Amino acid sequence: MKFRFLFGVVALAAMLAVSACGQDGATDQMPVEQDATAVMDATAPEATDAPLQIVDVTPDAEAEGEGEAVPAEGVEMTPAMEGEAGAAAEGSSDAALTATAQLQNAAGEPVGTATFTEMQDSTVMISAQLTGLETDIVGPHGIHIHQTGACTPDFDAAGGHFNPTGMQHGLDNPAGPHMGDLPNIQLDEAGNGAYEATTDLFTLSDGDRSLFDDDGSALVIHAEADDQVTDPSGNSGDRIACGVIVASAE
Ligand code: ZN
Repeated sequence: MKFRFLFGVVALAAMLAVSACGQDGATDQMPVEQDATAVMDATAPEATDAPLQIVDVTPDAEAEGEGEAVPAEGVEMTPAMEGEAGAAAEGSSDAALTATAQLQNAAGEPVGTATFTEMQDSTVMISAQLTGLETDIVGPHGIHIHQTGACTPDFDAAGGHFNPTGMQHGLDNPAGPHMGDLPNIQLDEAGNGAYEATTDLFTLSDGDRSLFDDDGSALVIHAEADDQVTDPSGNSGDRIACGVIVASAE
């Protein structure tokens, strides 16, 4: 019932607007300042005010022509919605800690991106997309956090594996692992690979196992598979990709 009543009002308003437009096309050419005044004055819904009323009624009639019958409410809600949007934007400061690494090959060409996200339970999710990382070996490749946030002048700048607790290498090593050890990444013939792993060995947030220590950290991919037991790097061969891990702006 309410909807029908509103629809009737809307239809009437639309008819008034249309007929008023027809009666007085000159109103459209009124100077802007006068239009603004007209809006202020056109509170009385008198049909005889047609030339002034046009300015006020027409926008509403257009809005409700689509069957959405919320004239005044729509206007009132706008400030509230803006307030909610503002609160949501502020809330984003509570978002998870994240970091990225732009990976490049030994020639300095981009070969993919890795993202790090610290979850609420302090575990870190790593996901990476590799594209065109040329390799003779299709299948598993070692991927590790190295202890220094540097990939130049060559990948040796990244140093050894991130190992703040002084353990041996390898997720399967009884005397391990390094805090920077990760499961292997799979690369196909084209050197493409999608990777996802979750670890509780290191953090992005402050602490004695944070990747963001004084000299930062780097993500390195190796030419061969990591056997996960042989110290110090699982026989994973040369370093074929490297990216400095950079904390995302909060
Ligand atoms: Zn290691």
